[in-house]
Amino acid sequence: MTTPLTDQEKRKQISIRGIVGVENVAEVKKGFNRHLHFTLVKDRNVATPRDYYFALAHTVRDHLVGRWIRTQQFYYETDPKRVYYLSLEFYMGRALQNTMINLGLQNACDESIYQLGLDMEDLEEMEEDAGLGNGGLGRLAACFLDSMATLGLAAYGYGIRYEYGIFNQRIKDGWQVEEADDWLRHGNPWEKARPEYMLPVHFYGRVEETEEGSKWVDTQVVLAMPYDTPIPGYMNNTVNTMRLWSARAPNDFNLKDFNVGDYIQAVLDRNLAENISRVLYPNDNFFEGKELRLKQEYFVVAATLQDVIRRFKTSKKNSGGPLSFDTLPEKVAIQLNDTHPAMAIPELMRIFVDIEKLDWDTAWDITKRTFAYTNHTVLPEALERWPVQLMETLLPRHLQIIYRINQEHLDNISSLFPEDMERIRRMSLIEEEGGKRVNMAHLCIVGSHAVNGVAEIHSNIIKTDVFRDFSELEPDKFQNKTNGITPRRWLLLCNPGLADLIAEAIGEEYVKDLSQLQKLNELVDDDAFIRDVSKVKQDNKLKFSQYLEREYKVKINPSSIFDVHVKRIHEYKRQLLNCLHIITMYNRIKKKPNAPFVPRTVIIGGKAAPGYHMAKMIIKLITSVAEVVNNDPIVGSKLKVIYLENYRVSLAEKVIPATDLSEQISTAGTEASGTGNMKFMLNGALTIGTMDGANVEMAEEAGEDNLFIFGMRVEDVAELDKEGYDAMKYYEELPELKQVIDQIKSGFFSPRQPELFKDIIDMLFKHDRFKVFADFESYIECQEKVNVLYQDPKEWTRMVIKNIAASGKFSSDRTITDYAREIWGVEPTDLKIPPPSEPREAIEEAARALKLDQ
Ligand SMILES: *Cc1c(COP(=O)(O)O)cnc(C)c1O
Repeated sequence: MTTPLTDQEKRKQISIRGIVGVENVAEVKKGFNRHLHFTLVKDRNVATPRDYYFALAHTVRDHLVGRWIRTQQFYYETDPKRVYYLSLEFYMGRALQNTMINLGLQNACDESIYQLGLDMEDLEEMEEDAGLGNGGLGRLAACFLDSMATLGLAAYGYGIRYEYGIFNQRIKDGWQVEEADDWLRHGNPWEKARPEYMLPVHFYGRVEETEEGSKWVDTQVVLAMPYDTPIPGYMNNTVNTMRLWSARAPNDFNLKDFNVGDYIQAVLDRNLAENISRVLYPNDNFFEGKELRLKQEYFVVAATLQDVIRRFKTSKKNSGGPLSFDTLPEKVAIQLNDTHPAMAIPELMRIFVDIEKLDWDTAWDITKRTFAYTNHTVLPEALERWPVQLMETLLPRHLQIIYRINQEHLDNISSLFPEDMERIRRMSLIEEEGGKRVNMAHLCIVGSHAVNGVAEIHSNIIKTDVFRDFSELEPDKFQNKTNGITPRRWLLLCNPGLADLIAEAIGEEYVKDLSQLQKLNELVDDDAFIRDVSKVKQDNKLKFSQYLEREYKVKINPSSIFDVHVKRIHEYKRQLLNCLHIITMYNRIKKKPNAPFVPRTVIIGGKAAPGYHMAKMIIKLITSVAEVVNNDPIVGSKLKVIYLENYRVSLAEKVIPATDLSEQISTAGTEASGTGNMKFMLNGALTIGTMDGANVEMAEEAGEDNLFIFGMRVEDVAELDKEGYDAMKYYEELPELKQVIDQIKSGFFSPRQPELFKDIIDMLFKHDRFKVFADFESYIECQEKVNVLYQDPKEWTRMVIKNIAASGKFSSDRTITDYAREIWGVEPTDLKIPPPSEPREAIEEAARALKLDQ
């Protein structure tokens, strides 16, 4: 019998946050003081918490630099196949804690900051989120970068350095109000501008046919300036690059030709060019055909492809001998994150045909073997269809190329399906109905060697429904790659209590191999482990309650069910269904105030696109219901409704570990995958959800009995569509639904404006594409099962453990391994690039540096 370990001893056993070590602590403190003095030019008398954050950020950054340079040198010397992830969004969130974790510096930094008499969490809170994304699609790109670096892939993220990220959301009088996200105001310690690698991007102009072929002339030029951000892998000394482009006007902008003379105006007009990278479009799953957006899409594509081709041409093998592009697909894979960077396909063709003088067929073959396309949605309003007229003005040569691609594509179809004009119309890249438009998904499918959906159910829908004709033509092109999340951010960083508990139980290897969580199945009957898991959750709930009370002055009951629904506000995600459940609970309490009730705190959060009227009304409805429920003395602490303002990556990291019940309740067939669902599962929440997106695979992994599955399946939705969805039928047959709807309609929640929610009511009855009422009964019943289980804490926690144990599949390491092997033709390595002795010798090493791979 040994004596139990003290907390201090336990910490030492767990090295997932790195070794404390006297030298490490001394080095960090030294770096911190040096940066406070030399970089921030402050002493401890005048330094603000933000100064301390920047001092620490620069100290941590110093430990990245040597590894970053070495990694890029290593890629140049060994010339592996490069992977380019092209995305209009990278929803990175904060970098400080993630960097400390991946470098194994967290414990040393914690100790140093403690010894300096500062509070680490206070410092971390000073960092602005890099909110260069809307929701799942952008966050996926960020998780993929972490996994690609961790798996040792020679990968690059390419995107736009928006000066303003996703807006900050304020709730005023229950309404959403947007504020600009001026995230760069205080400077960004994680980026390095590379003005020496600036590249030109052309717009407008006309096409001139010459003896040497087509020439795009009389264009307007905008410069693309790269900003590089280091992407550290987890404990492998690899540091990859995310390169984001910023628009700059050339110095002679508007000073040529007829504009000479008005010098002042010409300088002022530089803004016009530089507006390209000003602001992220705040739509999630919605296409808005604005010229500025098309400029952004082409801007990132044109700059990136120049970089890709320059790196290919100057690679060790290619420098010297005669250049051939035949080997490009063996050295380069380009992944298109949705159709947003689809112009890369005609752009690469333009470079090959017009500039490099390849013949069309060779160029097309290389292009197709280089690109792969990920589809993220089947919602028709989200699919990009650019008006031909707009494209002709902005990118005339690209439109010509698209027409030629289409011609050969349609010739091919008519030879395979002679006389089938309907099929040809359906498969054309050019839609004719209602003004000519380019269907960008069709362009991507035709121009790629692989097309993938993001969950099994979604990939099947693509094959059998939206892109059925294309999968009949080329069935082998279509694949599935179920989404994933990085366990570094979404467990180690956000939930250290749970991460440590798991490490004590099964060792630390699970961080790099999440399938090892399966081992937790051996502990589902271990009373001590059940108690510990439950304790971690309770601690997280308490901490989150304190955060809400501190920041928003709201008090919540920490022993209630934390029922959390956080994601972008969208009709298809059905926040309305949740809202109807809240009102139903309220009515039940009011009807029988003394009946037993399992206390709940319903937390809903998410941003509505500023132009999405119905989504904004949904927010107002939820806040109005909250107002009534939270102030009714009969309800007391049984039921509370919180609208979580400004949901974003750093807030997700706080609320998810504190959640008991995860709401994933989209109409079956509408949520391509979801990734929020996976974050909750990994953090010990149970899921109430429909058989949609990755929920289906979560149920498969954990067993359907270990999720609260309810509602229509995809087949049921299709069936209901055939017979005709009649909302009135449910309203008349379900008395509790009728009461809830009558209350909303009569102004019970908006007494001063009884008509306020008329548009919501009209939609629900007359044109509800997402069939909220059809799942009402099943949802309410299912929530009742949640209550029953929650009253048996031990059984609840056993189910939680089964879910965590089954969540390994949803690591983005698994997703990226599948992309690497089945699409990119590269193999993950756990090879560790030898580290420089940090950071002192890194300086000497840099001085001796070989040619860099920039
Ligand atoms: C993961 C994540 C999302 C995606 O959530 P879904 O529930 O899959 O839509 C959106 N926003 C943030 C901030 C996230 O972290």
